[in-house]
Amino acid sequence: MEIGFIGLGRMGSAIAGNLIKAGHDVTVWNRSAEKTGALVKAGARQAATPADAASGKIVFTMLANDDAVERVVFGDDGLLASAARPIHVSMSTISVALAERLTKAHAASGGDYVSAPVFGRPDAAVAGKLAVVAAGAAETLSFCDPLFAVIGHRTFNVGAEPKMANVVKLCGNFMIMAAIESLAESMTLAAKNGVEKATLLEVLTNTLFGAPVYQTYGDILLHERFEPAGFAAPLGLKDMNLADAAALASKAPMPFLSVLRVQLLTTIARHGEAVDWSALAKVVDENSGR
Ligand code: NAP
Repeated sequence: MEIGFIGLGRMGSAIAGNLIKAGHDVTVWNRSAEKTGALVKAGARQAATPADAASGKIVFTMLANDDAVERVVFGDDGLLASAARPIHVSMSTISVALAERLTKAHAASGGDYVSAPVFGRPDAAVAGKLAVVAAGAAETLSFCDPLFAVIGHRTFNVGAEPKMANVVKLCGNFMIMAAIESLAESMTLAAKNGVEKATLLEVLTNTLFGAPVYQTYGDILLHERFEPAGFAAPLGLKDMNLADAAALASKAPMPFLSVLRVQLLTTIARHGEAVDWSALAKVVDENSGR
C-alpha cells in the first residue's frame, strides 16, 4: 500500500521501518530532514513537505505534541493543503480537544480521520509489539487493521469517535505515572529501613504486583536507567497536562494527577529535559534525604 509517514522520532522511525519491512511503499517526512536517511536507505521515498507525503491512501503522523500535529496538518504545506485526501491516522499522544478539531477539519475537507495512539516504548515499537488503541468510523478502522497488525501485537477498537482513543491513552499514561510514583515511594521507604530495593521488588512483582508496568519500571528504578530516555520527562509532563485539560473539560476531578504533575515538574527542574519520566524516582529519593 502507498503510505505516508510523518514524524521520525524514537517511535516514528521504528514504526515506519516496520511498515517498509512489511513491503509497503512508504514516503517519509520529518522536520529535521537528516533523520530520513536510514529509512530512505531501507527503501522509503523522502517527501519535500508534509503535503507531499499525503499522496497515498493513508498517512500516519507520530509527532511530539499538539503544536507539531497542528503544524503538519494545518500549516501552509500541511496535509490539508494537499489535493489528495488519504486517511489520516494520528498516533501521537495529543489532546482530546485537538482530536475533536482534527475530526471536524478532515470531515469538512472530505477526508477521514482516525486516532490511534499506542502503548509501548521505543523497543516495543522496533519489535512491532506496540498496543494500538484506535477509534474512528468502523469501516475506516477495518481498512487500517492490517497496518496496525504490522505495528503492534494487538489493536483495541475503543469507539466511533476518534477522541475516545486519546482519552484511553491519557488514562493509561496517568496510571503508569501513578505506578512509578507509588513504586518509587515504596522503594525509598524500604531502603531507608534497610530493605534492599531488589528484595522489595521481588516480593511485590511475584505476589500482587506482577503487572508489566511494575516489572518494566521496577527494573528501570532498580538500575537507575534514566538516561538515555525511552520516554522523556517533558513528554510525560505534556501527557499529565493533557489529562488535566481533559479532566477539567469533563468536570472529572483527579486530585492525584496534581501531585504527579508537580513531581514531574520537579524532576525536570532538577534533572533536566533529557531524563526518562521514571527519573521522578530520583526526586522521591532526594526528598527523603537519601
Ligand atoms: P521524539 O523522539 O521526541 O520525536 C518527536 C517527533 O516530533 C520528531 O520527529 C520531531 O521532529 C517531531 N516534531 C516535534 N516538534 C515538531 C514541530 N513543531 N513540527 C514538526 N515536527 C515536530 O518523540 P517520541 O518518543 O517518538 O514520541 C512521539 C509521540 O509518541 C509523542 O506524542 C509521545 O507522547 C508518544 N509516545 C511515546 C512513547 C515513548 O515511549 N517514547 C510511547 C508511546 C507514545 P525533529 O526530529 O525535527 O525534532
